[in-house]
Amino acid sequence: MSTERGTVERLWGPVKLVIKTAAVLIFLTAAAFLALEQYTPEGVPILEYHKVNNRDTDEWTLTTDDFAAHLAYLSEQGYSTISTEQFARYQIGAFKLPPKPIIVTFDDGYDDMLDNMMPMMEAVGMRSTVYMVTNYIGRPHYLDWSDLNRLRRRGFELGSHTANHIPLTEMDNLPAFDEAKYSRIILWWYAHKRVTAFSYPEGKYDDRIVTYLKENDYLTAVTGEPGYNTTTTSPYHLRRVNITRPVKYLPSTAGLRIRLARAKLYHIFGWDIGEER
Ligand SMILES: [Zn+2]
Repeated sequence: MSTERGTVERLWGPVKLVIKTAAVLIFLTAAAFLALEQYTPEGVPILEYHKVNNRDTDEWTLTTDDFAAHLAYLSEQGYSTISTEQFARYQIGAFKLPPKPIIVTFDDGYDDMLDNMMPMMEAVGMRSTVYMVTNYIGRPHYLDWSDLNRLRRRGFELGSHTANHIPLTEMDNLPAFDEAKYSRIILWWYAHKRVTAFSYPEGKYDDRIVTYLKENDYLTAVTGEPGYNTTTTSPYHLRRVNITRPVKYLPSTAGLRIRLARAKLYHIFGWDIGEER
């Protein structure tokens, strides 16, 4: 009995130390996270979403409740949305950023953009950029041309996500350039608006594609790499904060908050420098 009690007493010391250390670490991590959340770096985060609906359950879909929670959080934090074209103008000194600028983007062009995303963003005075795969337009579950015209008329920006959503790095020059060229022309033709924004399929790009975009009137292109975008970020390697479906049992905004904080860390430590202008 007494030996058992001796063992317990002997172990209690190290166990207490482990518990104390863990508590201090948790406290410091939480404090660092909250400080990071309040910190506003110069530059612009770009959020990357795909779908907002209550039908699909894949990792790229947020429910309308989750998305409403994200918008409420962004509003509370004082963010205001700008377009990629305004960002390009900011980079050359021709646009003054609002105090906490953010760009919200949607890839692929699903039909829930019109029914869910658009009214929800309008209700909080925000706008987004929608990157279209032009050969998907009008297919089941995708936006059609009249939807696109409505989005554009209400101040949403349209961009190209190519014609067929094939990673351009896997294609020869001519077909790869055609993907960027014809998707832009057809968007311009039917949606009656010049298109300057591009999103690389699967975030994959190489020097050939970047040069083509630069020389053919695209002003910006977004990747899937995390970080902030400043005056020195190459406009053809824009960083994004990829947002996926919230983890069950965690608050809806937990993933958004953690990923925004992560993008700030990339910025602080210079991990998002990559290709310069
Ligand atoms: Zn895509």
